[in-house]
Amino acid sequence: MKIAHCKALTKQGKYCPNKPSANGYCFTHDPTRGKERANARRKGGSHSRVPHGADADGLPKQIRTLTDVLAVLDYALAETLPMENSIQRGRLLVALAHAFVEAIKTGELETRVEAIENALKARGEVKA
Ligand SMILES: [Zn+2]
Repeated sequence: MKIAHCKALTKQGKYCPNKPSANGYCFTHDPTRGKERANARRKGGSHSRVPHGADADGLPKQIRTLTDVLAVLDYALAETLPMENSIQRGRLLVALAHAFVEAIKTGELETRVEAIENALKARGEVKA
């Protein structure tokens, strides 16, 4: 009778259910096909790589201002949107939305503080 499963054992101690080749091992467990597996993994990796949705060249090299932060967030959003839909993508979009809210709130706060400072300066209560 021909064995219908691979000769290798799984972590649970059961036979691997994959279809064996002539030497009795499946592609995953065949000790003579390691190089083939490595090549297949590489190929899989390069094929699944997502192309860039944004241009990183325009990004600031250092983050010093709120405008720099927003540029990075815009870039991250542009990179995330074309990605294949997944739980990670969904989480990333929510995280980005949160980061945008924080950055925008901080920016509004700075603008308001500046307006108050200017008003106080105009009244002569704060030295310019
Ligand atoms: Zn196997």
